Amino acid sequence: MFVTPDFDTLQQAVQSCTSADVERALKSPRLGKCDLAALLSPAAEPYLGVMASRSTAITGQRFGKTIQLYAPLYVSNLCANRCLYCGFSAENKIERRALTLDEAEAEALLLQKRGFNHLLLVSGEAPAVGVDYLEALALRLRDRFAAISIEVQPLSTEGYARLFRAGITAVAVYQETYDRDTYSQMHPGGPKRDYDFRLATPARGAEAGLREVGIGFLLGLSDWRAEGLAVGLHLAWLRKAFWRTAFTVSFPRMRPAAGGFQPPLPVDERQLTQLLFALRIFDPDLGLILSTREDARYRDGMIGLGPTRYSAGSCTAPGGYGSPDVAGEQFSVGDHRNLDEVCAVIRSKGFDPVRKDWDAAFQQNAA
Ligand code: SF4
Repeated sequence: MFVTPDFDTLQQAVQSCTSADVERALKSPRLGKCDLAALLSPAAEPYLGVMASRSTAITGQRFGKTIQLYAPLYVSNLCANRCLYCGFSAENKIERRALTLDEAEAEALLLQKRGFNHLLLVSGEAPAVGVDYLEALALRLRDRFAAISIEVQPLSTEGYARLFRAGITAVAVYQETYDRDTYSQMHPGGPKRDYDFRLATPARGAEAGLREVGIGFLLGLSDWRAEGLAVGLHLAWLRKAFWRTAFTVSFPRMRPAAGGFQPPLPVDERQLTQLLFALRIFDPDLGLILSTREDARYRDGMIGLGPTRYSAGSCTAPGGYGSPDVAGEQFSVGDHRNLDEVCAVIRSKGFDPVRKDWDAAFQQNAA
């Protein structure tokens, strides 16, 4: 089982790196955890241009001139947790709803008409959207979409195995923060208070046979450099334990949401960029996600430099694709363009927007 190292120790490891450590890391063909710490450190800031070149070269070698695209489909904003930073927190007085299977299917078909082939089903943590609901929805959608992923409450290994057999191939479970003290402050109530259960969730998804597992944290809650080192260590552990699973990492920056939460340690674009380059150089095969939380200008500028997957045309309220004025969103997005507009920019930069990157025929072990 992966155990997060003490957060102070991670911070010290990063802060103590020197420019000699950074130069050694940038020359190394295969990076270890000390090299990752060096690339995340303040000492690496003057090397951002060199890191950009290396990240761009690795991304081109491993992923070609492609950007994968997906759309989140929010099926419910009911939630038993009280995460201080989230618009869906049980504390917030927002309109609540869980889509019926018919309503969720109608939203999915709208996204399909808009050109999406990869859906990410998203919900708050509540019994209404458990394994039975997700399984039934996946069985309705599996033949219409190339890939269906989930970002929902942590489930058991058996729960993930059932969903895999129903056609769900990937799960994303972000730790939110690897800093245990901050984690307890940010999660004052609800089942999510259990840091260790959440931390072990990606391993349960991989153990169940899911093709891809996503991990990550929210940028703005704690020291981003130590968070980056923690996610890298978590990733390296998962890779060793589950060598057949593909992995993605995401570290969304906090956006305005109901409740008016202000991130205690905001992260600027330069820091986000350093983090993306460091992770890309550390793990060349890693899927790196840049969602619509970032604005269009930044997302366009990062095409080809490291990120491999973008969301587009996103709405974060359940039912929001069919009824754009519906209330109850999780957060407001930073890039409001639709799929065609995002694809046009990707093509203008000489890249192919990819709406399908695999085929269900590859899904071994599925019923
Ligand atoms: S972050 Fe997730 S668990 Fe926390 S309140 Fe929001 S939807 Fe619920």
